[in-house]
Amino acid sequence: MSPEHRCARDGCNNPVPTTPGRRGRPPIYCSANCRPSRLPRTVAVEVDRQDGDDVEAGREWTVQLRRGTQTVVVGHDLGRFSATALATDLRRVLGDDRS
Ligand SMILES: [Zn+2]
Repeated sequence: MSPEHRCARDGCNNPVPTTPGRRGRPPIYCSANCRPSRLPRTVAVEVDRQDGDDVEAGREWTVQLRRGTQTVVVGHDLGRFSATALATDLRRVLGDDRS
């Protein structure tokens, strides 16, 4: 009886299924859920205040989407109310209206 492989993810102790005859690197995780992805699944909506000399007073808010280290600015030079409203809409679209 060969020693059973256990999932490489911390806290997961499931056996890793072996596929006889399969070519390439043997799997080290029990399932796709345990395989670390390069990017987190969740997208965060961030509201930030810019500062700088060329920022118009009262229009210094930006809204951006962040996923891991990747970000995209979806609104800038916004007033605070517009930025908050946009962030709320985005969170609703993303199914994340916790805040
Ligand atoms: Zn696992």
